[in-house]
Amino acid sequence: YIMTDGNKINLAGLTLSGLTCLFEDLGEKPFRASQVMKWIHQRGVTDINLMSDISKVLRERLHEIGEIRLPDVRDEFFSTDGSRKWIVEVASGSRVEMVYIPEEGRGTLCISSQAGCSLDCTFCATGKQGFDSTLSVAEIIGQLWWANKKLGNYEQPGNHPVSNVVMMGMGEPLLNFDNVIDSVNIMMEDIAYGLSKRKVTISTSGVVPAINKMIGLTEASLAISLHAPNDGLRNQIMPINRKYPIAELLQSVKSYMASLSDNRVPLIEYTLIKGVNDHRQHARDLSELLASLPSKINLIPFNTFELSDYERPSNASVSNFREILRKAGHTVTVRTTRADDIGAACGQLVGDVSDQTSRSIRHQRRMSKVNEKVKLTGKLATAAESM
Ligand code: SAH
Ligand code: SF4
Repeated sequence: YIMTDGNKINLAGLTLSGLTCLFEDLGEKPFRASQVMKWIHQRGVTDINLMSDISKVLRERLHEIGEIRLPDVRDEFFSTDGSRKWIVEVASGSRVEMVYIPEEGRGTLCISSQAGCSLDCTFCATGKQGFDSTLSVAEIIGQLWWANKKLGNYEQPGNHPVSNVVMMGMGEPLLNFDNVIDSVNIMMEDIAYGLSKRKVTISTSGVVPAINKMIGLTEASLAISLHAPNDGLRNQIMPINRKYPIAELLQSVKSYMASLSDNRVPLIEYTLIKGVNDHRQHARDLSELLASLPSKINLIPFNTFELSDYERPSNASVSNFREILRKAGHTVTVRTTRADDIGAACGQLVGDVSDQTSRSIRHQRRMSKVNEKVKLTGKLATAAESM
């Protein structure tokens, strides 16, 4: 467990094993850990005094050494489609966003792992803001805690509005490795949120050593942001590819999937950007690339935002792309755009990040150049196709 400011331990950021160590250190029985865990995560309680099955003496001791501190929710937006977006303030003062998307039979919460992102993918609003800080466990798990609170789960136990959590908000989860792993493990912990490991998904742009490191530490599901079928194009739109090229990435994904105790396949995310990666030849190349990797492909039509010249492809071109993959035997879904009216669709999340890299300024200058170059590559593919 980790000491926080003022040397008080934030109990909301401890996993079951962290809490168990804490109580052992206090000379208490390990089952105290599950009592506290239930109070915080199943009942939404932040006042140690309300933990009625814990003796007064022990509660006083807990007060001295610890506290339950969750991030503040600063704002709330309602989409006409029923989605909701909350703005969460983290310790650095930056604000991150999370989105709740209700659907028939399930509710998905999309949460953030960092304020900003250092990876600079050309099509992502979060990336353009630069990077400020990584979120603590309490700030990550606090998003699920708040969603449960706001959606009335703690008042009506048994009602589980959030059935799925995806780490597809702001930031690269695997660059905040320890905190993300602890957080997903709390989400899947029976006496905390009890979410199924199939329904907790870490989405990554492909931090290969971190994917390898996940083996044995968690059984969460994995989504890979691929977005291009070859290294040339992926290098241009996702700078991380220059460090960890596609072949290495797919190899690490295979190893992780093989390490799981059940049969699961990774989700391959592919954002379709008009004239950049949406050509029929790209679909054929993608199909070939994934031929030996059992997976589900999720196509995401590009969502526009300020500062980007990229465009969303037509519905017809999205369907063509999907059909090429389908006919080749792949399982393909197209992500429906949700919460666009409150700026909460994939890739639109920005919050309020104080950039520590001055990227946001550099970006505005560089964007037009990058887009020109990428569009040109797209055109070359089109030209090759018509030959
Ligand atoms: N950093 C992680 C998770 C956050 S992004 C990752 O990159 O996987 C969640 C998904 O939204 C990723 O697949 C990302 O590539 C995609 N995305 C980013 N910007 C987008 C945009 N403008 N339109 C559509 N999808 C976008
Ligand atoms: Fe970061 Fe993911 Fe956005 Fe890339 S797509 S800049 S990795 S948040």
